[in-house]
Amino acid sequence: MKLNKVDYNAKSIFDIDINFFVSLNIKAIISDLDNTLDQFNVLRPSSRVVKLKDELQQNQIQLMIVSNNHEKRVKQYAEVLNVKYLANARKPFKKRLLKFLESNGLKAEEVILIGDQLLTDGKLARNAKIKIVLTEPISKKEQFTTHFNRLIDRPLRKRYRKNGQLGIKCPVRKDQDKLF
Ligand SMILES: [Mg+2]
Repeated sequence: MKLNKVDYNAKSIFDIDINFFVSLNIKAIISDLDNTLDQFNVLRPSSRVVKLKDELQQNQIQLMIVSNNHEKRVKQYAEVLNVKYLANARKPFKKRLLKFLESNGLKAEEVILIGDQLLTDGKLARNAKIKIVLTEPISKKEQFTTHFNRLIDRPLRKRYRKNGQLGIKCPVRKDQDKLF
């Protein structure tokens, strides 16, 4: 039997039924920023991100951002959203993420990663032994550096999908309009 490359998949973070996280007893969602929450050149969180964060909070789930992007970009975004963050995360390497979790009193089994790239987010999850939801990039626009990763990510994802290695599809939320 081939091992799954990721545990779960979803179209986007906004498509996932909140009860899914509740049922996993998740304390925090560790989300990627660019193309998972917003497009890379969107400097302030869009309203659906703010609404999602509030909704998660009402369910005692913290939203946190872990990004490979630089401090200035991530800080600006995360501070407006009022969430904890780790910039320059060096995904897929696990060292900085694990330190970040530890400093926030979180264990690996209490969190779930969400990200749009197999090479960074997906590999990080494997390296750190943390559950992950792989999403589709929310926009085709991406930074130059990401563009190269994407050239590998796309065919890889296609192959994993074909082999049924993208894990379980997350239950879709029925009230998506609530976020818009
Ligand atoms: Mg991304």
